[in-house]
Amino acid sequence: MSRAAATPPTPHLDAIVLDLVERRLQFHQIPKSLSAEEAAEVRRRALEVMTNASLSNMRHYSFDVDSVSSRNCENLIGVAQVPIGIVGPVPVRGNEVNEEVFVPLATTEGALIASTNRGCAALRAAGGAKVFVEDVGMTRAPVFRTSGIEESQRLVTWLTKNEEEIRTIAEGTSRFLELISIRPFVFSTTVFVRFRFRSGDAMGMNMATIACDRIVTDLIEPATGISCTALSGNYCVDKKPAAVNFQEGRGKRLFAEVEIPGEVLSKILKTNPDDLVEVQYRKNLLGSIAAGSSGFNAHFANVLAGFFIATGQDLAHVVDGSTGVTFVEKRPNGAAYFSVFLPTVPLGAIGGGTGLATQAESLAMLGVKVNPDRPGSAVMRLAEILAATVLAGELSLMAAFTSRDLASAHERLGRGPAEPVDPLSEV
Ligand code: ADP
Repeated sequence: MSRAAATPPTPHLDAIVLDLVERRLQFHQIPKSLSAEEAAEVRRRALEVMTNASLSNMRHYSFDVDSVSSRNCENLIGVAQVPIGIVGPVPVRGNEVNEEVFVPLATTEGALIASTNRGCAALRAAGGAKVFVEDVGMTRAPVFRTSGIEESQRLVTWLTKNEEEIRTIAEGTSRFLELISIRPFVFSTTVFVRFRFRSGDAMGMNMATIACDRIVTDLIEPATGISCTALSGNYCVDKKPAAVNFQEGRGKRLFAEVEIPGEVLSKILKTNPDDLVEVQYRKNLLGSIAAGSSGFNAHFANVLAGFFIATGQDLAHVVDGSTGVTFVEKRPNGAAYFSVFLPTVPLGAIGGGTGLATQAESLAMLGVKVNPDRPGSAVMRLAEILAATVLAGELSLMAAFTSRDLASAHERLGRGPAEPVDPLSEV
């Protein structure tokens, strides 16, 4: 229950509500003498009058209002509740994780939890998901305007000769930041400079942006006289599907694989290798070619979105994470090899929304805790668990396509009774 709900209206607050309603005051201009809690309350009350909508549910939050108002959300008025379900245990065989983990997914899409859970059962029966994660680093690419070929080349040469000085400035902005590479891309009178950083356990977008700002403002512009048009030149590429991210990776690059014995395929997934390969070929490959899509997979985005909401990731990065490939191959004795490749998954175990009350609980459940002695290990654990969970989600949905079970599962679980009876038989 929120503390906001218990805040009694006072004449002082009433006067501010009236000012908001009559537009003498903007939502961001609430007097600083009010607490963050009171500010949210007067905004809600004003909105109730202005829109004639009851806002009695969105006031029930348990996060730290002061912290959320100053770090995560301006003009705070409340919370959007998204149900969290549990899948697993997911058997993860990686470098940071070699155990079975229960995974919270936040979703409003009926059947997603039950279906992913069936994939987890298949993974357990097959001995677990082997996972591999590369920390390829967070990128930011400022864009510069030059007078032509000569000046563009002068900038490129300058960057090569001054890499160490750039590194010193960048890494001086945070002890967790490490400059990995600088890659210019020249476009006539436009030069993009794609900086790539490791950022410890943080997703790194703020850290990379701050470092780029210092590099550009304190070093490149004064030293070269070439001006930067925008700190983000869209060659980064953030929150858009992009070939450059697909090829070079961004954030974490995830791989997960499993070989599923024929018996597990038939008993748990109600499928067989031939049908899986056929669906993979015609749907994930040809279908994506026909559509001009770089999402050569069944539904990475579903598991990513559920995982991102539950663990406090930046939701817009589902766009980046949705690109990638699912592979299916026949193996001897009726088995099938199944794997997923996600080239661009920005992830953080600290910063962003990871510190919010419910998100922190999900991270604790996953055993993800930043260790000051091993920066980066917590986010790698998170990434390994995610890779295995995406694999579970792909397995189950691909199998559902082969048995034409998709629509009926959605009918039963997406619109049906509140509690699915048995995830293995119901999806
Ligand atoms: P991001 O750069 O991911 O957008 P923030 O802006 O929240 O996220 O930055 C992360 C913050 O967390 C930085 O201030 C950084 O100094 C701090 N921090 C503390 N511990 C760590 C860690 N182990 N790894 C990375 N950052 C950390």
